[in-house]
Amino acid sequence: MGSQRRFTILFTRDEIEATVKKLAAEIRQDYLGKHPILIGVLKGSFMFLADLIRLLDFPLEVEFVRLSSYGRGTKSSGKIRMVHSLRSKIKGRHVLVIEDIVDTGLTTSFVLDYLGRKKPASLKVCALTDKPSRRQIPVNIDYRGLTVPNKFIVGYGLDWDERFRNLPDIYVVENEG
Ligand code: 5GP
Ligand code: MG
Repeated sequence: MGSQRRFTILFTRDEIEATVKKLAAEIRQDYLGKHPILIGVLKGSFMFLADLIRLLDFPLEVEFVRLSSYGRGTKSSGKIRMVHSLRSKIKGRHVLVIEDIVDTGLTTSFVLDYLGRKKPASLKVCALTDKPSRRQIPVNIDYRGLTVPNKFIVGYGLDWDERFRNLPDIYVVENEG
C-alpha cells in the first residue's frame, strides 16, 4: 500500500527559463508584425505559454483548446476529444500551437487537423518538451525545447493526476518498489 514515488530533477527552472528565452527569440524573428494567434493546449501548456508571451514584445492573441487523451495516472487511454473550442477566427491568421509536451503525437496531430481545416494563413507548433521515443504519429515541431527520455515527467504545468503542476522545475517521477 502507499507506493513510494521517487522524484528526480530533470530540468531546473534555470534550464527551463533559458529554453523559453531561446524559443521566444526564434518565434519573435518569425512572427514579428504578423499578429499571430498562440493557441495553448490545456492544461499542461499554461505555465509555458504565460512565460513565453511575456518575452514576446509584439501584438499577438492568446487562445486555448482543451483535449483529453490521458485519463487518471500515467497511461494514455489513446482516446482524444475536444472539450473546449475556439472563439476567435482562425481563417487567414498565423496560428502557433503551444504544447507542454509531444509524446505519442496524437494530441498535437489532432489539434493540427482541427485547426488546419479552418484554413489558417500558417500553422506551426512550439513544444517546450519532446519525447520522441514514444511517437506513434509523426509531428513536425517547428520550435522545439527540451528532449525528454522515455519517462513520465511532472512540474512546470505538467501533472500526475492533476498534482505537481505548480512545481517550478521538471522532474522524472517513478514508482518505487
Ligand atoms: P500525446 O501522447 O498525445 O503526444 O500527449 C498527450 C498529453 O499527455 C500531453 O499533452 C500531456 O498532457 C500528457 N503527457 C504525455 N507525456 C507526459 C509526461 O511525461 N508527463 C505528463 N505529466 N504528461 C504527459
Ligand atoms: Mg498537453
